[in-house]
Formats: sequence, C-alpha cells, structure tokens
Amino acid sequence: MNDMNNMLNINQIIKYSRALGPGIRAGIWLQGCQQNCPDCINPDTHDLSARLLVQTSSLFDWTSSLEGIEGVTISGGEPLLQAQALTSYLTMVQEAGLSVILYTGYTHNDILTRGSAGQKSILPYIDILIDGSFNKEFAVSFRLKGSKNQNYVFLSDRYSSVNINKYESSYLKNNSKEIFFSGNQTATIIGWNNDNIDQNLMQLLYESCLL
Ligand code: SF4
Repeated sequence: MNDMNNMLNINQIIKYSRALGPGIRAGIWLQGCQQNCPDCINPDTHDLSARLLVQTSSLFDWTSSLEGIEGVTISGGEPLLQAQALTSYLTMVQEAGLSVILYTGYTHNDILTRGSAGQKSILPYIDILIDGSFNKEFAVSFRLKGSKNQNYVFLSDRYSSVNINKYESSYLKNNSKEIFFSGNQTATIIGWNNDNIDQNLMQLLYESCLL
C-alpha cells in the first residue's frame, strides 16, 4: 500500500524551462488550493481531489533524469497544502545539489507565525520563496513574481537579488515565451500575459505540432 505522506497530487510537470527562474529548470504545479484569490490565473489547480498521484521517489527519479537542469520550480495550486510529501521530495532534490524555487499564496510571515509544523519544516529545503497570492491590481511585467505584493524571500545563500535582477533583465526582458504542448490537447504558456494570447496563433501552433 502506498504511504500518502510520500504521494504528491500533481497538476502538471514540465521538463526544461528558462521562464521559471535562473538556469534551465523543471516545473512542477501541484494540485489543490483553497485560497480562491479573485485574480488567480490557474483555477484548474484548485480542486483538492486526486488528479495525478505520484510517489515522491518516482518524481525524484524523473527530476534526476533531466540533464543539465539547475533546479526545480514548484507552483500550484498551493504547494504548502502538501508540505509533508513535498518535504520528502525536496530532501532528495537538495541532496542532488539542485536548487528550489517555490511559489506560495501564504506570506513568509504567515508561515512562520501561523503555519503548520510541516509548513515551517519545509523552509530549509527552499532557496527562493516567492510569497503571497497574485493580485492583478498590482501586476508587474517581466518579473519572476506576478504582482508587486509578492516578495522574493531568499532562504539560503545560493541566490540573491543580484541573480534575480540579472535573470529578469536578460531572459524575461527579452519578452521570451514558452509554449508546452501535451498529448491531451492542452497547451501551457509560460511568460505570456494571458490577456494577450492570440487564439488563432495558438491553434496554428498546436495543429502544426500535431503534424
Ligand atoms: S493561492 Fe495561488 S493558486 Fe491559490 S487561488 Fe491564490 S493565486 Fe490561485
């Protein structure tokens, strides 16, 4: 029988991205969020029911098979709803020398003052915490964070604001975009404001991908 503390409920994974932080990174979106932020751009990640349950050891095997990645970026959904299993995974990621960027709708202060023991104990496995929920009113362009109310919290010595500024002023300022197509007729767009997506272009890209 599988131990649920070692299972992660996943919305989506992406192998190689340059739009999720410094270097080439794997992207993992976890399933489930209860915050209901009005401007959420990922509403299909909210449902708490099982979508894709994966053992943390299997997810790590997949991660470690990706050649040349600098680290993983975890988003959601609310990753900290699965703090215990996520810590199991991130322990292996950290031991492998990969870096970790994690988005959460909670603030760092929320976690420290009101978070569960599991949410507090995951912090040493994170290099950059991007905290706070997305707020469209304070949206920013060409930044790793989506809105001004969010913060980069550097929880290790691996990165600093210098790395983030360099990354944002190079890759993101070039207005680069990534589109990942999956076999179930869905496309994931990273680095692109959803309001500006040309649906005809998307359809053409998707169809050409299937040829
Ligand atoms: S915390 Fe994130 S995933 Fe959850 S509703 Fe807010 S913006 Fe969406």
